[in-house]
Amino acid sequence: MNPCPGCQECALARTRKQMVESRGSTPADVLFLIEAPNAADEVVGKLLSGPEDRTLIRICMDAALEAGMPRFTIHVAPMVFCRPTRNASIENREPRSNEVLKCMRNVMRVVVAVQPKLTVLVGKVVADYYKDELPESISILAPWVLNKQPARYNTNMRNLAEGLKKYVKGK
Ligand code: SF4
Repeated sequence: MNPCPGCQECALARTRKQMVESRGSTPADVLFLIEAPNAADEVVGKLLSGPEDRTLIRICMDAALEAGMPRFTIHVAPMVFCRPTRNASIENREPRSNEVLKCMRNVMRVVVAVQPKLTVLVGKVVADYYKDELPESISILAPWVLNKQPARYNTNMRNLAEGLKKYVKGK
């Protein structure tokens, strides 16, 4: 879903090729909140379009097996719906605080529409901004960190599995 068609609320409106949409079921059991769209997402206009996103999909599937939950619905949204780039180059950068804060209203529109039982904050930057806004949430490391430090994958996967059992399965 696009909670803010044509939004011009922050400087990213001037550098974006196009906004991305959040994607998945609405409503959904679990909302994954990720940092920002990447280059592949921006081209397609949808999240999870790049090869690096496979880690997030994999950890979700592994946690579902670990939790004994073959079926649940998910939705994925970004903290900013326009891709932040460094000096209008092709290089990604972390969203600036004013950009995140301007886009918070849009994220909260998604939260209201999705009504998740569990929100998963993906990465430290997302957790820093949203852990107080969304207290019924858990955090996992960002996929790029897990790719660099595979020894931390299982701990994060089990954290996610515990969150699924507690908030979605209700055990
Ligand atoms: S990042 Fe968010 S607030 Fe900024 S222009 Fe895009 S949709 Fe609007």
